[in-house]
Amino acid sequence: MITQEFAVARRLSELPPYLFVEIDRKRREAVARGVDVISLSIGDPDIPTPAPIIRALARAAREPANHRYPESEGLDRFREAVADWYRRRFGVELSPRSEVLTLIGAKEGIGHLPLALVDPGDVVLIPDPAYPVYRAGTIFAGGEPYEMPLRRENKFLPDLNAIPNAIRERARLMFINYPNNPTGAVAPLEFYREVVDFATRYNIVVAQDNTYSEISFDGYRPPSFLEAPGAKDVGIEFHSLSKTFNMTGWRIAFAVGRADVVEALRKIKSNLDSGAFQAVQDAGITALSMAEEISARNSKIYQRRRDVLIGGLRKVGLSVEAPRATFYVWPRVPAGFDSASFVSTLIERAGIVCTPGNGFGKEGEGYVRFALTADVSRLREALARLASALA
Ligand SMILES: *Cc1c(COP(=O)(O)O)cnc(C)c1O
Repeated sequence: MITQEFAVARRLSELPPYLFVEIDRKRREAVARGVDVISLSIGDPDIPTPAPIIRALARAAREPANHRYPESEGLDRFREAVADWYRRRFGVELSPRSEVLTLIGAKEGIGHLPLALVDPGDVVLIPDPAYPVYRAGTIFAGGEPYEMPLRRENKFLPDLNAIPNAIRERARLMFINYPNNPTGAVAPLEFYREVVDFATRYNIVVAQDNTYSEISFDGYRPPSFLEAPGAKDVGIEFHSLSKTFNMTGWRIAFAVGRADVVEALRKIKSNLDSGAFQAVQDAGITALSMAEEISARNSKIYQRRRDVLIGGLRKVGLSVEAPRATFYVWPRVPAGFDSASFVSTLIERAGIVCTPGNGFGKEGEGYVRFALTADVSRLREALARLASALA
């Protein structure tokens, strides 16, 4: 039977090439050769979800009222728990009904937001390197991504003054992400103040991704964008239970901030999905009530791993800064390598998988990302192998 050639929509071909296919092939080859591969490439916690959260889910799953379609904006009681947590953690007041929206993961909200705000041809400011969904969501909405380079000499903060006037005038939306994936950089409140001024002046909506605010080290506590005066007039912040509570598989997150932006995103969602399983939202309430304790426990684990990995990488001569938050380490590759060749060498000679920096955008070239999602003994093993591979 001859089937007619079938063409997918143009928007799919506009996505950047998927750089991880080759790495995945090499990883599978190594596994097939019998290599005990150490995977430090994926930002997915290896620590299990705390037991009280699982018990809360089990209880809520037995409740028939939770078996029906949820409201797309989320349960009132979950949104109240979010507002309580924002008050406790950041000193930010939120109206649960109009300024909080439940999401089926921050990825879902980020991917859908441009559909709510961006018309074809509008510019969206996105960081480079970055979590890939800012770009994908922009392209799906017909928007034009404009990359703001994040460079080491600028502490991986975008230089707003370098954005050309013509771009500022056409920009509708700006994505920022601190604590940052993949660089591990953090933003001071002062930077958020600058962003509010810039966004106010050019009428740009800001979407700050605060997914990693609860994984931080050395006593540092990352702020919320909404702590900056006027921030709630220009934008929203995303937060996720995924990384904070080791719940990546559960799909639960939220957006908070400017009410008409929250409402626009709710409208898109109500036409595309029917909200997050209510039992998962009930478990999320339990999680948020334990945020301080769980965050302190996780951060302590990651800090120990960070110290081990950073120490070992420096010993073999890599140039790397110790992150103050996130579970990522972002070293420069050694002389004579680029991101791709260093990643290939690590897989082939040491059985270690990490992520090439250029997979996050062209400014990521020359870096690799290690995720601290393996325990200290695996990290020590990885470092021993790395030292002999580079010797
Ligand atoms: C992991 C991650 C997300 C996605 O979180 P989910 O709530 O699991 O969808 C969003 N932003 C960044 C920067 C991430 O690293």
